Amino acid sequence: MRRPAPLSRHVEGFRQHVEEAKNLKIMQQVADRLGIGIHEVHMELEKVMRWMQPVRRQMPVVSDDGNIQTMEVTRQGIGPLNTKFGKFWEMSFEVGDRWSKYHALVMADLDSHSGLPVFKNKEEIVVRTDSGCVTGQVFADTTCDCEAQLHLAQEEISHAGEGIVVHIPHQDGRGMGLPFKLGTLQLQDALGVNTVEAARLLAYDGSIDVRTYEGVVAVLKFLGISDQTMINLVTNNPKKVDALEMNGYRVINTPAVVKGHEHISHHLAAKADGLGHNYGVFRPRISPETVNLEAVDLP
Ligand SMILES: [Zn+2]
Repeated sequence: MRRPAPLSRHVEGFRQHVEEAKNLKIMQQVADRLGIGIHEVHMELEKVMRWMQPVRRQMPVVSDDGNIQTMEVTRQGIGPLNTKFGKFWEMSFEVGDRWSKYHALVMADLDSHSGLPVFKNKEEIVVRTDSGCVTGQVFADTTCDCEAQLHLAQEEISHAGEGIVVHIPHQDGRGMGLPFKLGTLQLQDALGVNTVEAARLLAYDGSIDVRTYEGVVAVLKFLGISDQTMINLVTNNPKKVDALEMNGYRVINTPAVVKGHEHISHHLAAKADGLGHNYGVFRPRISPETVNLEAVDLP
């Protein structure tokens, strides 16, 4: 004789039934208000729920010591941002490294099933790897140029029509952490030293920039950027170029130079002297003329 299902399962089934009916009612209300079919609302809702599901992948990357390591990358959500630079998709990632949280801002069409970008230009893409800066990018402190650099990158991407910003919130203060960064702001404010001097005064062991970029490579690979694609990196920081080149990418750069007030030029000079930043094109594109000349067959 079959035993009856336990009561809890009945309750659970009934609850699910009620939830579905409620949801169906809301979907119908929305469809009626918009003058569309309930099917359309249902399809969109299904897509959104699919995009909210975590997607986990293992990505092989080359570290700055030359060793290959496998990084776990999990995409956790996708949604559109209508910015003053155009429409970007924000994708939230969890990466198995010390920085853990990553955001990708992607300008491209998305595959509606997988949520992965479909880039029209397979040859070249504009990319920025952007360290989070809560003081400048969120609270509008004018000591640094981080907010302006991020916007400049979004503008470059908008001009190209496609591209990716990988933003890493925990790389604030060149990866030294917010307490350290706030300390450097105090030293700059009180003593009038520059950002690099302030960091050197405060650092125990002389290291003032501990950022690593393997996670950025892992996120780019997740987004389908193979090493066959040339990366036009919006940066002044040669270390970021090195990290991509270590992973087999060909890289050219677009300077991320923000024209601005006295604060900023002081800041830029300090970063050039202290961190080796370069405000020109230091990974130039090989001009097509040169390539053509080499390829000409002699009669
Ligand atoms: Zn900043």
